[in-house]
Amino acid sequence: MNNLNQPLKELDPNFIRRNIKVITFDLDGVILPKGTFVKESVDGTEVIIKTKKLSPKMIEMIKELKKYFWINFSSGKAMLYLQHMLSDILWDKVSLCAENGNFILINGTIKQVVKYNDKYFQKIANIRNELKQLKAKNPRSICGFEPKHLIITVYTIKKIPAIEAIIKKHDKEKELYCLWTNEGYDIGHKETSKVNALRFLVKELKIKPSQMITTGNNLNDKEMLAYGIGVSVDSHRVSGKYAISKKRGILGGEVLATYLLWAMKS
Ligand SMILES: [Mg+2]
Repeated sequence: MNNLNQPLKELDPNFIRRNIKVITFDLDGVILPKGTFVKESVDGTEVIIKTKKLSPKMIEMIKELKKYFWINFSSGKAMLYLQHMLSDILWDKVSLCAENGNFILINGTIKQVVKYNDKYFQKIANIRNELKQLKAKNPRSICGFEPKHLIITVYTIKKIPAIEAIIKKHDKEKELYCLWTNEGYDIGHKETSKVNALRFLVKELKIKPSQMITTGNNLNDKEMLAYGIGVSVDSHRVSGKYAISKKRGILGGEVLATYLLWAMKS
């Protein structure tokens, strides 16, 4: 792909008005400030999860955007969490994609869009168990697991090579990714990315990928940004056709929402 990371002002308002039907927002780092805090007790019987919430301004902008677009959210988070986080703007013209493209909630139904065999589940379980043992030995640097169905998300205070070594040991087939997210690691199947759920979404809404704006700030957004009209909010980490340069105190998703509303009304 050529001409990556063009400034947002190059995205033609006429093109937006005529072609764009769907906006896919990533959550963390795009419409929510980064910084999930997970703390799990040593025996795993207690989990505390703290996250940020949508700003009142962003809630209003999303409600306004829904007049013009279908709004989709795509995250590595679990579906339960997304429903909880986004409750202020649910449900009309909204869909949710969870666990990096594994699940979609659309039109009242949750769909698992990727199937795995028992071997995958067993491998993930074995890895999780060994990570738990590692956590018991390193309770200060490994904070805990975020509850999920199909991927593993382990929160750490820094990069831990022993985690990557555990994945390598169990994954002889080399079918897993192990992505550092700045807050820990996402571990899942290499053939599944956020695009899997987006493919389901475009079929369901009967649109083309080029009629959807996608956003992202991290490596787990790479495929999704290349799939639609990608707008990166952190072009040093991941590229999109367009990029929003970082401004202190303003989230990239808010800059994009403001721009889209301006385009629709101008
Ligand atoms: Mg993100």
